[in-house]
Amino acid sequence: MHELGIVFYIIRDVKQAAQANGVSKVSAVVMNIGEVSTVVPEYLTDCWRWAADKEPLLQGSELKIIPVPAVTHCQDCGKEYETVRYGKTCPYCSSGNTFLLKGNEVEIKEIEVPNN
Ligand SMILES: [Zn+2]
Repeated sequence: MHELGIVFYIIRDVKQAAQANGVSKVSAVVMNIGEVSTVVPEYLTDCWRWAADKEPLLQGSELKIIPVPAVTHCQDCGKEYETVRYGKTCPYCSSGNTFLLKGNEVEIKEIEVPNN
């Protein structure tokens, strides 16, 4: 499963960050997940539950997902529009000369540690 591979990737990064900062327990990991990324948030949290509980550092930790709306930029008229609604064709000038500005991200935004 695609999401499980991503979860292992996240765990590796979190472990590195925890080690670098002398953190021994993580309570939550906050992720930015783009609207047009290929990640299904429900699968990702399911895989997280399964994989994170095998790691002492991450046992019981929560994966929080912040959805990032997809935005496309048109190079011909310079406007920005909703990718999911209009796709690759600019709704203002009908140009296909567009590129995705954001909405494809799968990245760690924050790592939360217990308060005490
Ligand atoms: Zn345009």
